[in-house]
Amino acid sequence: MKRVLKLVWALFASAVLCMPLVASAQDAPKQVLFTNVNVFDGHADELAMNMSVLVENNLIKQVSEEPISAPGAAVIDGGGRTLLPGFIEAHAHLMLMGPSLPAMEANTTWEDFAIHGTRMAEMYLMQGFTTVRDAGGGNAGLRRAIDAGQILGPRYYPSAAFLGTRGGHADFANFSAPVGESTNFGRLNMAQEVDSVADVQKFGRNNFRMGATQLKFMQSGGVVSAFDPWQLLAGSQEEIEAAVQVANEYGSYVMAHSYRKEAIMTALNAGVKSIEHGFSFDCEISRLMKKKGAYITTNLTAFDPGLLDIPAVANVPASLAKAKSASATFAGYIDNMKKCPAKRGFQTDCVGSVTACNIQVAYEKHLNNEFFGPHTSLVTMTSVGGEIVALSGDFMNPYPDAKLGVIEEGAYADILIVDGNPFEDFSVVGTGDKWFGAEPRPESPETIRIIMKDGVIYKNTL
Ligand SMILES: [Zn+2]
Repeated sequence: MKRVLKLVWALFASAVLCMPLVASAQDAPKQVLFTNVNVFDGHADELAMNMSVLVENNLIKQVSEEPISAPGAAVIDGGGRTLLPGFIEAHAHLMLMGPSLPAMEANTTWEDFAIHGTRMAEMYLMQGFTTVRDAGGGNAGLRRAIDAGQILGPRYYPSAAFLGTRGGHADFANFSAPVGESTNFGRLNMAQEVDSVADVQKFGRNNFRMGATQLKFMQSGGVVSAFDPWQLLAGSQEEIEAAVQVANEYGSYVMAHSYRKEAIMTALNAGVKSIEHGFSFDCEISRLMKKKGAYITTNLTAFDPGLLDIPAVANVPASLAKAKSASATFAGYIDNMKKCPAKRGFQTDCVGSVTACNIQVAYEKHLNNEFFGPHTSLVTMTSVGGEIVALSGDFMNPYPDAKLGVIEEGAYADILIVDGNPFEDFSVVGTGDKWFGAEPRPESPETIRIIMKDGVIYKNTL
């Protein structure tokens, strides 16, 4: 098996470093054949047993119950393990290292952000995430470096600068900063203040210029942030419609940070396709989402019983009060999602050190299974994520040639092999059952044996 890994790495290295040498027409296509695997295809509620999967270059060429003949292929015997799509994180912030937004505004340079983003990208890939949508703060530079093979990382869908109102959830300026004064986050196009339709148009278009694949609008406030009540209804109907209009110019869509029901309904009616957090989710919202073809992603750590004990909340009376009122309002989410399911993507939303985010990602996987069980969790982490990132449309989607988040013929070859059966023991996908106070996690879960992205193997312990 070492030889296979070496071969694939050699092909990868030569593809990146010596493109003209390997691109000649007589070269046979690169094939990898997975045999003896049980397949989760991204949708089904059980595994397809004893399958073979043939990868050719960066796409899945064949998925079959019958043995596949591929004489030139590198063969990987899955040994009866589970083969499934690479995971998709639908709401991360790879550039934001914490500890707090004011600290980042005051003390962080572009080098700090870039180094943190590089390490976060590698962490995500090695935890089994072959695609990450960034919900604010990241521009196209990280993707260029990943896709050129300069650094390790997932496919990357950045939103560029958060668009938010003065005093809203993307206002990272110092408390004493006068209106209109430029900020560190503004200069780096990580957050922009928008207080009119014209602002939304100007900075929205600039985001696409900077490599955004979609826009992120901050409609609600937050719990641990400085100026904004979580109940905030930021942005007029016209401003949110302006964001949708700019996104539509690019064939793309808007994701909105929305907590209250009023905010969510306004966003959906304005044409927003991805509701972020959406804690006030109920059956009426679910119906409107279906009608509009919209998605929701929610960080389930918000429903963690230990949330009120974390220092950032417990030690700050204003935050504690906000957290208590938020918890009361959000109490129906889990039951409503079970009663009136909507298309829900995986969201970790970690802002912090790589070590802390590695723990939080694993815990978010764990909570998905605790609240919704293995099948819904797997669908959330794969095919729904693939549908969400595809909303970026035919010309802003950096990976437009095939589907993500599924194991089927013609899809991108983003593939994991894990020990055991995640329907019986969900921990094999790399969960952690502890958040605060958890031990640092391994660079990559032992139970994830193969990580392939775009036909290239990044981990193989078989
Ligand atoms: Zn976020």
